[in-house]
Amino acid sequence: MDTKLIFVTGGVVSSLGKGITAAALGRLLKARGYGVSIMKLDPYLNVDPGTMNPYQHGEVFVTDDGAETDLDIGHYERFINEDLTKLNNTTTGQIYSAVLDRERCGGYQGGTVQVIPHITDEIKLRIRRAIQKLQPHIMIVEIGGTVGDIESQPFLEAIRQLKTQLEGDQCCFIHVTLIPYLSASGELKTKPTQHSVKELQSIGIQPDVLVCRSDYPIDRSIRAKIGLFCNVPEDYVIENLNARSLYEVPLMLEERGLCRSVLKVLGLEQREPDLTEWRKMVESDINPSNECTIALVGKYVELHDAYLSVAEALRHSGIANNARVNIKWVVAEDVQEGNVDEIFEGIDGILVPGGFGERGLEGMMVAARYAREHKMPYFGICLGMQIAVIEYARHVLGWKDAHSKEVDFNTKHPVIDLMEDQVNNLERIGGTLRLGSYTCHLEPGSLARKMYGKDEVHERHRHRYEFNNSFVEDFKAAGVKFTGWNPRRGLAEIIELSDHPWFVGVQFHPELKSRPDNAHPIFKGFIEAALLWQNNAKGDIK
Ligand code: GLN
Repeated sequence: MDTKLIFVTGGVVSSLGKGITAAALGRLLKARGYGVSIMKLDPYLNVDPGTMNPYQHGEVFVTDDGAETDLDIGHYERFINEDLTKLNNTTTGQIYSAVLDRERCGGYQGGTVQVIPHITDEIKLRIRRAIQKLQPHIMIVEIGGTVGDIESQPFLEAIRQLKTQLEGDQCCFIHVTLIPYLSASGELKTKPTQHSVKELQSIGIQPDVLVCRSDYPIDRSIRAKIGLFCNVPEDYVIENLNARSLYEVPLMLEERGLCRSVLKVLGLEQREPDLTEWRKMVESDINPSNECTIALVGKYVELHDAYLSVAEALRHSGIANNARVNIKWVVAEDVQEGNVDEIFEGIDGILVPGGFGERGLEGMMVAARYAREHKMPYFGICLGMQIAVIEYARHVLGWKDAHSKEVDFNTKHPVIDLMEDQVNNLERIGGTLRLGSYTCHLEPGSLARKMYGKDEVHERHRHRYEFNNSFVEDFKAAGVKFTGWNPRRGLAEIIELSDHPWFVGVQFHPELKSRPDNAHPIFKGFIEAALLWQNNAKGDIK
């Protein structure tokens, strides 16, 4: 194996931005011409996050090959600009499932199955398999959780073993920690980092590089102190302050010398990075000339991470349109006919993102109706498209009972229906949605065709229900245009309205493919329309 490995662990507290650090380092290595892939090892027992409540876990990110993964995979894709795969995310649940399946098949030939070596072997196997299939120069492996957690111990043990089995300079261990500031004494404190590194050392891992998150600059003497106690050269103690934009993190870490230190540890050639385009992108992110506000009407808006890729895609389309996109987070349940004017006052566009279940649906429909009637830009994603369809059926076609079968199984107008191949999946829900990338043909002359600039696109899906084609003629006659179709199964993937300047519903998740330097065309078009809306008198946009 020629691939070099970088392991990223976290200490002291969670939510330190370990994923961002890994992704940013990936960008810095790619900017030097190294081929990079990143994987995440997640310590929970769920096989994947697909069955978890978004409040527990945040967004579920979906790859082209249909894996439901941790949201950090989205950060990785956005920072290193690569489409990742199911190999890039492994959970304890998957590891145990594989080991237990093998045991049931007699694969251990009578042996006692144990965490060491069987679970740790399976972890190493998955890292090696990902490397073998993806063939990067450098594989970055992020270990979820915080050092000291019971859950992540087998992963740490596995990477310790892996190092002993590889060449001396083939692995680099980065530990991301926190240097808290005590306002009472006006000091930055290094002790939690010392303890966390001790914990790592006690399991046989000596970090090569420390990335220290801090609200205040960490001066040289503090870095020297951390280095001394943690057995790391001072130059390898990297300060990581708060950034103005997420995408500024690689630039800040570059200045602090993170990549240089890592390349030294790995014995790789030091090269000049080309960050010209990235810098330009960050500059437009931080200093845009325009501004607009989008209302994001969802069920889980209290936790912004539940819509992470949507928020990022809005940011990307802001960058592409030289505008700051503010998000007004609207709790769907709060939206009612009586308060809708007040809620959407000063808003330039409404976005209803994906979701499951019944809660908040009526509020989302009020929002969709408001956008439709006021000719305000509306962007419905997955559930957001289904909502637009139901709202149209109820208020334009006059089918008061129209609904999705997800919520009302007995409606006479199931305009959103369970897909045929999903009928048997309602009990075994894990991993059985329509997942991953599917082809979509765009209708000539449509807004979608214009935005994409091509006839065929591939977009990622995550849903069980779908527009019911038995109503297609009724909808067409009433002014709905079906502008994107799945060619193989005839599934309606995009809808638009004929008498509305920008009303788009998509059954897929375009946010998953948006990149900071290459905004998704529909998101870009949505923000363009929102800026236009802002410049025109309301209801008068042409
Ligand atoms: N709940 C809907 C379905 O399963 C929409 C899913 C989504 O928005 N991701 O079809």
